[in-house]
Amino acid sequence: MNQATHNEALPAAPTLLAGAPKPDHAVFHGQLYIDGAWREALDGARFERRSPAHGHLVSTFAEATASDVDAAISAAERAFHDGPWAGMKGVERARILLAVADGIKARVDEMALLEALETGKPLAQARGEVGGCVDLWQYAASLARTLSGDAYDSLGQDMLGIVLRQPIGVVGLITPWNFPIWILSQKLPFALAAGCTCVVKPSELTSSTTAILMQILEQAGVPPGVVNLVTGQGPTVGQPLAEHRAIAMLSFTGSTRVGSLLGGIASKGLKKVALELGGKNPQIVFPDCDWDAMIDAVVFGVYFNAGECCNSGSRVLVHASIAERFAQAVVERSRQVPIGDPLHPDCKVGAIVSEQQMNDILGNIDRGVAAGARLRLGGQRYDADGLYLQPTVISDVTPEMPIARDEVFGPVLVIIPFDDARQAVRIANDTAYGLSAAVWSRDIDTCLTVARGVHAGTVWVNTFLDGYPELPFGGVKASGVGRELGKQAVEDYTETKTIQLHMGGRTNWWLPRPAP
Ligand code: NDP
Repeated sequence: MNQATHNEALPAAPTLLAGAPKPDHAVFHGQLYIDGAWREALDGARFERRSPAHGHLVSTFAEATASDVDAAISAAERAFHDGPWAGMKGVERARILLAVADGIKARVDEMALLEALETGKPLAQARGEVGGCVDLWQYAASLARTLSGDAYDSLGQDMLGIVLRQPIGVVGLITPWNFPIWILSQKLPFALAAGCTCVVKPSELTSSTTAILMQILEQAGVPPGVVNLVTGQGPTVGQPLAEHRAIAMLSFTGSTRVGSLLGGIASKGLKKVALELGGKNPQIVFPDCDWDAMIDAVVFGVYFNAGECCNSGSRVLVHASIAERFAQAVVERSRQVPIGDPLHPDCKVGAIVSEQQMNDILGNIDRGVAAGARLRLGGQRYDADGLYLQPTVISDVTPEMPIARDEVFGPVLVIIPFDDARQAVRIANDTAYGLSAAVWSRDIDTCLTVARGVHAGTVWVNTFLDGYPELPFGGVKASGVGRELGKQAVEDYTETKTIQLHMGGRTNWWLPRPAP
């Protein structure tokens, strides 16, 4: 951290919570899950994960290489072509997905503890996320029963058109560390509901809950080979998975850098691709809003998951007439945020996931201050054992500064003033991203003008970060390609096949003239 750039006397950041219980659990040991069997990597390598909050060993995993990925994809290919899954009745697939939901429900505490220890997020939040996955699996189960094609009875007396929806094939799922089991549950149950088979590659920082999910799938009756797990590094496991000829579709959540790399690989291999990438999501605040609700949502929006969230409301656009009042209020509220050990029952903001992520965030803050923005709170790592970063507020930001445009992925709020709704929309749209946005006003015209004008996959009006399995989620521009959730989610993992069924005598193209 460049102290020289932080020479203004700042209010004190919140002190870290004291008195958390000590982590008490057995180390989790994960293996690869291929063709319904648990095994080590072919070369026997393993890697480990330590808690970013406590530094102690949480888990170890088999470290796959391209040969293991090959084996996993072959198993998924066999299961797709020869196994029962793709042709199973929707109702039977739904029963199995519901059994998975029950299996997750039964192991919420165990999974939440590992999730909190590997990610650094508050245990209570992790419980909510694992519990929320139950609903995602149940919703996907309902879609397994309602997935249908189309029929055209309007093509004439001699023709019936039938459009089938068939599973696309073997799907590669690559997931990140910020919401490991939640993001996987936005993908996997929908791919399974469609009848696909899958190979899953979680982030090497947070693989435990994905491995536990494989145990749950096995117990719920998912046949061997239908879902396979390969753990390890992105370039050595994720990339061979993306490049493999037998992968029909790739679904990825993570950085825009890797997403764009994988998009290129997919287009070269003529594979379908779904990408859920970064964001620099604006919350747009007008003077007539419900002040208390807005301040709470702004603080929640930027500090939730320590800001390591693609939907983080990291950019607040505030009407110039209230910008200073807003900055002071948000600083005051930020000073009270309960931050510290993820196992503390009061914790709302835990540890940053890794040293590298911590350094990236600090670098972004330094660049913002160097560009002339004003640090109002925080900006530094806590002098403590775990990876904790002070809640950070930066004001006097102009739209062209890097801190206004780049995804920081940390607990860092930037405040940008605007003069009217048209300018607010212009500033909101002036980044590479387009994942989500929010508007705060009691005036319906203002809300709709902004909601219709911003380039984003989701717009919240007088709220922030709500989500439902029924509602599609995804971004535009550099925030990604495709949508997850919603009733179309399962269709994304299908291809249509057109059947044209002719009845009665056919009018010939050409008949030879009868011989004279
Ligand atoms: P990455 O995009 O690198 O990681 C996401 C997933 O992709 C992980 O499973 C990773 O594996 C894998 N991966 C990495 N490189 C490759 C590759 N060449 N081929 C195939 N798969 C690969 O994100 P990071 O974890 O490095 O985070 C960096 C930044 O990305 C964050 O600061 C944030 O800005 C953004 N991000 C966005 C997320 C979102 O929700 N949209 C989630 C996470 C990060 P592994 O980690 O095991 O190497």
